[in-house]
Amino acid sequence: MEKESFVLIRKKMNRTQKQLAELLGVSLKAIHSYEQGWRKIPLHIERQLWFLIYQKKTKGGKKKTQPCWERKSCEMKNECSAYEFQCGDMCWFVCGTKCDCTRDVDVREKMQVCRKCKILKSLLK
Ligand code: SF4
Ligand code: SF4
Repeated sequence: MEKESFVLIRKKMNRTQKQLAELLGVSLKAIHSYEQGWRKIPLHIERQLWFLIYQKKTKGGKKKTQPCWERKSCEMKNECSAYEFQCGDMCWFVCGTKCDCTRDVDVREKMQVCRKCKILKSLLK
């Protein structure tokens, strides 16, 4: 995750750096480092952030958005874990998805693909 996205999500969550540090269970120094680009943002922190912004945006999952298989006219859904577990608005969170380029990759590579995808990017709108 880029530091700019990290800062944007913190601001969307109305958190100070100190408050976000508490929420993520990391030190204030770590938040400074992520935002300044001194330290790479770990994948587990990024996934936690996306999860929290998703929860906030959808009011704890109650405000459902159109699932990925509809938004992307997906022909692979019957083979995909996101469809199996009916998490078409959190497909970026689960492994075993079958979208272009997320097939047969590990979670780090998957996030690289998802970061460019409209499904994940729409969480920041
Ligand atoms: S995650 Fe990708 S492959 Fe899976 S159902 Fe959604 S759009 Fe289709
Ligand atoms: S690329 Fe990622 S965010 Fe986009 S539909 Fe596939 S799993 Fe979801």
